[in-house]
Amino acid sequence: MIIDLRSDTVTKPTKEMLEVMMSANVGDDVFSEDPTVMALEEKSAALFGMQSALFCPSGTMTNQIAIKCHTQPGDELICDVNSHIYNYEGGGISFNSGVQAKLVAGNRGRITADDVENNINGGYDWLAKTSLVCLENTVNRAGGSCYDLGDLAAIKNKCREQKLALHLDGARIFNAVVRKGYSTIEIGNQFDSVSICLSKGLGAPVGSLLIGNAEFIRKARRLRKVFGGGMRQAGFLAAAGIYALDHHVARLKDDHDKATILGEELKRLPYVKSVMPVDTNIVIFDLTEKYTAAGFEEALKSFGIRAAAFGKQTIRFVTHLDFTSAMLNQTVEVLRKL
Ligand SMILES: *Cc1c(COP(=O)(O)O)cnc(C)c1O
Repeated sequence: MIIDLRSDTVTKPTKEMLEVMMSANVGDDVFSEDPTVMALEEKSAALFGMQSALFCPSGTMTNQIAIKCHTQPGDELICDVNSHIYNYEGGGISFNSGVQAKLVAGNRGRITADDVENNINGGYDWLAKTSLVCLENTVNRAGGSCYDLGDLAAIKNKCREQKLALHLDGARIFNAVVRKGYSTIEIGNQFDSVSICLSKGLGAPVGSLLIGNAEFIRKARRLRKVFGGGMRQAGFLAAAGIYALDHHVARLKDDHDKATILGEELKRLPYVKSVMPVDTNIVIFDLTEKYTAAGFEEALKSFGIRAAAFGKQTIRFVTHLDFTSAMLNQTVEVLRKL
């Protein structure tokens, strides 16, 4: 038995999910003829109280299409220094959109309305035009931290006032929804566009959605084709997404509970220097000099446990649908032995 805590992307479809995939009604989605993709898009848009949605192969693509839609080359966007769009999308902000990023050092990946205000460029010819703010919720690199709704609303109001577009990288938005108790509609109300991932905690094999108003999604649909993301009988994948939205959201609390237990356990271990607060399903911790991150990874691997080095002395665990209670017990046992 391999215990894989590298990411919540490692899950395999459940038997029930595979069954709905096998029996999906499909068509050519580039011709807008796949009923299951259309059903997933309608369901996702409704969930966030928005007009339209677009099914894409990855969260990187939904984010990158959103940035392209909201900006012109030479513009600047504002985001936190830890954000996925800046760190983990291959330089796509500049590559795809010719846009530069103004990085803000927020509080565990979260920025404020004041941060937005203080980082907007004035109208001088020599300054890049600020046109977009991108937030992440939960924040991956900051240990799955979540925004409070009031802070999001303050940022929204600032963006409206300053005529800036506001995009959410909500790869793990359902973890935030389950943790914070706000609704997806309340989240949708704060943003011009929202990206959600089905392939993280929700346990679908592939897919993300970009959600926004009808005009925005029409533009995004054209860009999806340009980016090479127009898929044909994608209904087999969309069926997994519909199943995941119906059955795998509430259970995210189990992942959070398991992550909390791991975090508490780690705090007691002599070779752990510090543990970031555990807010959702991500546990990030620093090791003492006893281990390097690479050495710790190897040590865990010899016991059949996989983890991700997240820096020289830093390790990340992510809990998920395929991380069972038995695996949790086994992991705790191994951690105590190391
Ligand atoms: C995983 C992730 C994405 C998208 O990743 P893909 O692998 O391209 O689907 C975007 N943002 C965050 C915060 C993520 O964790």
